[in-house]
Amino acid sequence: MKPAFAYLHHPACGLHEMDRRHPESPLRYAAVDKALRDSTLLAAANQMIAPLASHEALCRVHDDSYVTDIVAQSPETGYVTLDPDTSLNPHSIEAAKAAAGSAVAAVDWVMQAPGRRSFSNVRPPGHHAVRERAMGFCIFNSVGVGIAHALATYPIDRIALVDFDVHHGNGSEEMFAGDPRVKFYSTFQHPYYPHSGVPSAAANIVNVPLSWGAGSLAVRRAFNEIILPDLLAFKPQLLFISAGFDAHERDQMAGLNFTTEDYAWMTAELVKVANLTAEGRVVSMLEGGYDIESLCESVLVHVAALQA
Ligand SMILES: [Zn+2]
Repeated sequence: MKPAFAYLHHPACGLHEMDRRHPESPLRYAAVDKALRDSTLLAAANQMIAPLASHEALCRVHDDSYVTDIVAQSPETGYVTLDPDTSLNPHSIEAAKAAAGSAVAAVDWVMQAPGRRSFSNVRPPGHHAVRERAMGFCIFNSVGVGIAHALATYPIDRIALVDFDVHHGNGSEEMFAGDPRVKFYSTFQHPYYPHSGVPSAAANIVNVPLSWGAGSLAVRRAFNEIILPDLLAFKPQLLFISAGFDAHERDQMAGLNFTTEDYAWMTAELVKVANLTAEGRVVSMLEGGYDIESLCESVLVHVAALQA
């Protein structure tokens, strides 16, 4: 039987824009949405407009004062700069709340029955956002909001987050380091932005730094020798993926040289773990990926593997 699949998105995610020349561009949302709609992958999908995350949901992983302050900074026109890479336009707060809200809604949907999986086509990405500030294109840590919602709402105490974005998920690590209910796995280029992740911050953090030019063999070895055995021992009851595709060989953002086939393979391996330990439940959130063509190609094989 094919797993039930949900596709979450929100129109504001196509309106948030930080600068006309910024690589984290609204085109990413539109192109991924079109690629999925032009494929057969949404034929049986439950398509949801993401709800906006509540203040309470955001404050499970962010400081109340940060959430209040950043919402108050939302401009009526133009931009507000948050850090050298990150800014707000009039649609950014709605987009960031929708991105985080998609994680909450995905958790609620996936937890209703075994064998459910989801993909959120949302932006801004979230995995660099820390408790008290935005950074690195990220405003709210969407996947963190989803994990905290799952822990607060459902009787589960083992959640895994696998982050294969080319950048280390420093915000996610910070939020859950030392929390034995969550195990965080991250492959990332090192040394590289945000210059974190080495060494791992706590026993529940499994960071696998990879060198420039690493390629397929290195990432598959990292999965086969470190991540997959550790995941199988941890036995997650729910599996999250911070699905960034900026390690692709055609993405100019960095230099890990993953291939489209690597994303299909990694996803299929994670689905196998979820089937063994989590009744098949997977919540996947889009993070980075800045070369539009390879981003779309990679999302298509990722979503296909989530539906296998
Ligand atoms: Zn990234």
